Amino acid sequence: MPTTQRIVSIAQEQPLPEETAQFPPQRFKVYTARQMDRIPQLAGLPEALRFEMQVVASVLPFRVNDYVINELIDWDRVPEDPIFQLLFPQREMLEPEAFARVAHALRENLPRAELDAIIADIRASLNPHPAGQLEDNIPTVNGERINGLQHKYRETVLFFPSSGQVCHSYCTFCFRWAQFVGDKDLQIATKESGELQAYLREHREVTDVLVTGGDPMVMKTRNLRALIEPLLGEEFAHIRTLRIGTKSLTFWPQRFVTDEDADDLLSLLREIQAAGKHLALMAHYNHWRELEPAIAREAIRRVRETGAQIRAQGPLLANINDDANVWARLWQTQVELGIIPYYMFVERDTGARRYFEVPLVKAWEIYRDAMQRVSGIARTARGPSMSAHPGKVEIQGVTEVHGEKVLALRMIQGRDPDWVQRPFFARYNPEATWLNHLEPAFGEQAFFFE
Ligand SMILES: *Cc1c(COP(=O)(O)O)cnc(C)c1O
Repeated sequence: MPTTQRIVSIAQEQPLPEETAQFPPQRFKVYTARQMDRIPQLAGLPEALRFEMQVVASVLPFRVNDYVINELIDWDRVPEDPIFQLLFPQREMLEPEAFARVAHALRENLPRAELDAIIADIRASLNPHPAGQLEDNIPTVNGERINGLQHKYRETVLFFPSSGQVCHSYCTFCFRWAQFVGDKDLQIATKESGELQAYLREHREVTDVLVTGGDPMVMKTRNLRALIEPLLGEEFAHIRTLRIGTKSLTFWPQRFVTDEDADDLLSLLREIQAAGKHLALMAHYNHWRELEPAIAREAIRRVRETGAQIRAQGPLLANINDDANVWARLWQTQVELGIIPYYMFVERDTGARRYFEVPLVKAWEIYRDAMQRVSGIARTARGPSMSAHPGKVEIQGVTEVHGEKVLALRMIQGRDPDWVQRPFFARYNPEATWLNHLEPAFGEQAFFFE
């Protein structure tokens, strides 16, 4: 057990920095699929392209806000612009047959019920809940399932507060896409932080709580406070680290700078640390361009000033960031802004994965090349890592053992704590994009976790 000694270091309220004055408050304005036509920048695009986006947005979630549209996308480079690809649906994100069915239904103006049935059918075919998320990791208290929690790895519980299950914008490649398309059965959320507390009281082995979504930073500070403050009490002394998963530093940095409860949010971040907990914002980044706007940097500066750590993670994606230079610059910029690179993920086997997937061997090459372009300080991102059913599997590289070309792998997080840091080998396969495409090397029958 870690010690529960309290270390109060960064507890004082900071005065509002002068710099805030250069960022006028902005109203959050968002467009969903139905309002796509009202986005001024889209008006200049060919009609056929806009129809294609409408077709795909009928199946996959779409939501984008005007900060992202105006500040992050280079509209002269559309459709290749990486941030445009990250936010706007593209024809190839659906299989040709699926695309044709929806396009036909929209063109012929089929009755709503027929269209909905086609959409539901396509969604069901897209592996909406990869890695057994819906069935396997849901904990129970007194025999009751708690739907807003996931507990897969011994030391860390994921908490999905119900009011944090949207994002300021949606990523086209999101592996949690299914919970944003309105199917309530598929939602992983909880109304009650009370259930979280009951579970944590019984599970003293848990040291980390990861509040996630969606994006918990869409919540008002007062609601976030109501969830988090109870965990700061003596009875939860075993909880040493609070993590908050968020893309708000990219999609709505105003949350930390000019929103009316921004200062209160920063106070909450200080309070968590004053209670002796480690606090990490697990920030989702895909491209260095997300780190360029002045307000994005101001948000990072203000969070860092509270003493909270920002750790960065995100998937490697074709059409967005499958380039070692992009990763090297992303990691280097993160380090310069005081952010710690944490994980490079392999795009999961769900949703529009065909469009974004990168073979594991190529993913490793990009990771290695990017690593070679930065110093050790920026080499803290582990990966490329697959969040698969048995655990997080890292591709360590291609090598040869006794004349057999193999992929060296390592389980960096495991459903069974005993598996963590176990190396293992798979037969070389340059096409494989996920763990289930790999076979054990050396003629063995199964991997050790099977
Ligand atoms: C990645 C992950 C965690 C956190 O694992 P760390 O290795 O501690 O970062 C926890 N739960 C799930 C389901 C995860 O995928």
